[in-house]
Amino acid sequence: MASSLGETSDYADVVAAVEAAAKQYGPDQVLLVSDLDNTLLSPDQDLGSDQWFEWQSFLLSADPKSRYLVAKDFDGLLRVQGILFTTLPSHPTQPDLPRLIAKVQDAGVAAIVLTARGQEFRNATESELARNGFDFSKTAPVLREQPEQKGVAATLQFVPYRKEAIAESGLSDEECKRWRLADQPRPISYGKGILMVAGQHKGAMLLAFLQHATKSYKAIVFTDQDRQVRRVYEALAAHGHDVTSIEFLREDPRVKAFNYESKKAVSRHWRRLQRAMETP
Ligand SMILES: [Mg+2]
Repeated sequence: MASSLGETSDYADVVAAVEAAAKQYGPDQVLLVSDLDNTLLSPDQDLGSDQWFEWQSFLLSADPKSRYLVAKDFDGLLRVQGILFTTLPSHPTQPDLPRLIAKVQDAGVAAIVLTARGQEFRNATESELARNGFDFSKTAPVLREQPEQKGVAATLQFVPYRKEAIAESGLSDEECKRWRLADQPRPISYGKGILMVAGQHKGAMLLAFLQHATKSYKAIVFTDQDRQVRRVYEALAAHGHDVTSIEFLREDPRVKAFNYESKKAVSRHWRRLQRAMETP
């Protein structure tokens, strides 16, 4: 099977790609890697969504005095986002998604979540995935350094690469330059099949992750809804992996609608929530 880039609005197509790879290499040789926000889960309301966060980040640099801003700086915005992740519910982007993931796992295929969220959101992320019927610990790869607690692989935080010893992370100096990787990477976190990379290049992070895994995979199927689709595709293909990278378009219409609509409603929602939190 040749590496490929594709797109879909139905997660069943992602599963079909996983099944094709499993048929060719055997299920234990396949790894499914899914983005979280706007791929597996979508918030019930615009507040706290990916598109809302993008808009707030944009305002911070383009219109720092905007009355719509929920925080004075990026750290403040992250704090608000953390509150929203714990307060506001989300749902699977398509109703049969938890069943589709379970089907992949039941076939013996390894599956993880690869999210740009940072580790400070781990508790909220784990409970929201569980509440929606996902359990990525079932067939999660194990990392060599992952500590065990009562026979279960515990969450591990680690630095994805060190620039002075870049080959140890499975990366090259040339890739560091091309992908503009920071001199000081942010720590990443892996546990319960959820890899949290704190906004860093997902291709580089996945390569570093695979370098730590106790076993290798012949084929990787990746799905996401933004530029990371191409990043992961290029990074993994360059390293000789058989990679199928699929852009997941299901939430696109909602994102576009948000980007073009008035922000009055989402702004009112935030002020209402803020008042409720201030009330003792
Ligand atoms: Mg996403």
